[in-house]
Amino acid sequence: MGSPVTRPPAPTLECGRDLLALVEQVTEELPPADPEHQASCPYCQDALARLRADSGALRELAAEPVRVPRDLSGRLVAGLRGGGRSIVVAAAPGGRDSVAEAVVCRLARLAALAVQGVHQASAVVVHRDAGITLDLHVTAELDRSLPDLATQLREAVTHAVARSSGVRVTAVDVTVDDVV
Ligand SMILES: [Zn+2]
Repeated sequence: MGSPVTRPPAPTLECGRDLLALVEQVTEELPPADPEHQASCPYCQDALARLRADSGALRELAAEPVRVPRDLSGRLVAGLRGGGRSIVVAAAPGGRDSVAEAVVCRLARLAALAVQGVHQASAVVVHRDAGITLDLHVTAELDRSLPDLATQLREAVTHAVARSSGVRVTAVDVTVDDVV
């Protein structure tokens, strides 16, 4: 501790609860991990209200009949709890809002999977001087025009990430890894 190069901790609420667990609770419609605390905690209530207000589009995406491995969210949460990097969304005298890169990647994946003709998708955040670039890899249907698909993916991903996380993605590099 005290090292200037420690990784940022996973985002937590003022009550100490894991913000990402609440994100999962809302997007995956999971039961609360600690219902008694949550019911009486103003920080949790406030965070849940904001997540729910923001998550309509996300849940629509999540409800799409896409082929997402069942253990994906578990692996994602494990990755998040392992401590990933985070992106500052807003900085003001009252505090700083950050979102984990893994959350941005998840939003990008879900948005990409909701695009017709996309069978698999994965996203990685790449930091560049001018902004945030996402490296998006997809498996697509053969009959899609790949330039059209890339354009559609860029729009869908940029919009979904901005809407749900507040992170402004400046570029999306699309790679089609495979076709089916
Ligand atoms: Zn709480």
